Amino acid sequence: MTALRIPADLLPADGRFGCGPSKIRPEAVAALADEGAHLLGTSHRQRPVKALVGDVRAGLAELFALPEGYEVVLGNGGSTTFWDVAVSSLVERRSAHASFGEFSAKFAAAAAAAPHLDEPCVVTAPVGSVAVPVAVPGVDTYAWAHNETSTGAIAPVARVEGADPGALAVVDGTSAAGGVELDVSQTDVYYFAPQKGFGSEGGLWFALLSPAAVERVGRVAASGRWIPESLSLAVALANSRLDQTLNTPAVATLFLMREQLRWLLERGGLPAAAARTADSARRIYAWAEASPYATPFVADPAHRSPVVATVDFEGVDAAALAATLRANGVVDTEPYRKLGRNQLRVGMFPNIDPDDVSALCACVDWLVPRLDA
Ligand SMILES: *Cc1c(COP(=O)(O)O)cnc(C)c1O
Repeated sequence: MTALRIPADLLPADGRFGCGPSKIRPEAVAALADEGAHLLGTSHRQRPVKALVGDVRAGLAELFALPEGYEVVLGNGGSTTFWDVAVSSLVERRSAHASFGEFSAKFAAAAAAAPHLDEPCVVTAPVGSVAVPVAVPGVDTYAWAHNETSTGAIAPVARVEGADPGALAVVDGTSAAGGVELDVSQTDVYYFAPQKGFGSEGGLWFALLSPAAVERVGRVAASGRWIPESLSLAVALANSRLDQTLNTPAVATLFLMREQLRWLLERGGLPAAAARTADSARRIYAWAEASPYATPFVADPAHRSPVVATVDFEGVDAAALAATLRANGVVDTEPYRKLGRNQLRVGMFPNIDPDDVSALCACVDWLVPRLDA
């Protein structure tokens, strides 16, 4: 079946639909080989790389229209490491989590495993739907994911009503950031990594910290709690203010991130990026709704992600479909490995051309009748 050759005129111009690492623009890679070649292999303690970090921090502040007093902090280790950073440096005694997929569950698990914290309060929703945290007296940190990349469900980003004064809203924006609009003032910590909407490589985390979060970081750091240096948000904050990181960052990742920020800002920033992902989303969900064999996995249209589409198949072997697409150069449409559904998952980050999403749908329509033939 993998011998099926999709006609060239149906194929997307770029066949990368992964949800992280996701498509990196060829122009950004070319810039890395050209202008970036002078930066690669030079010290991150010297001006040129510090200026690069400064540009990335400034670019993020502009893209997210950072409210007064918010700061852009970064460190090594990606979003997974940030969960440990948050458990070490942000949660004071007890956190509450909304868990509706693999990624939001992992943060809740990290908090549950921490011996210095009380048992977290976790509200769950079945995969394909959305949970939001509910106010619980005594909870000092509320955590949820903006976009659950494992299921393609997007959640609202709004402060928890009735939360204790001073409780922080900590939102995982890893796959939403850069492709979905949000009001940062509804969060105290909005964190993400560069390998999804920011069309760069993995390995770094970024966090937008509110003044309340900065204050919390200082208080927890001064509390006498043992915090490994690499998980200390206070240390990361002090370094970030100097356009530095505690230890060596990937310079190429930062370079590609700056390229992407420039591209996003030149094209109209977050509103324009969100319009483009919404365009892709309209196309794939409309196609799936009209299809006799495909259905959007997320039942409620309001919760269907504009950056990660999940589409269930009936009477069609989705794994065979993904494998055949892959053999034709259309890659990473496999579903999230642990979800175990007969499904395709499609990244629709700002780098993805909506026309390529339409082309992908056309390729599926071409393949399905031929798969069992
Ligand atoms: C990809 C992803 C992560 C994990 O990011 P890493 O940088 O690989 O650790 C966490 N949360 C969400 C929502 C993600 O999409």
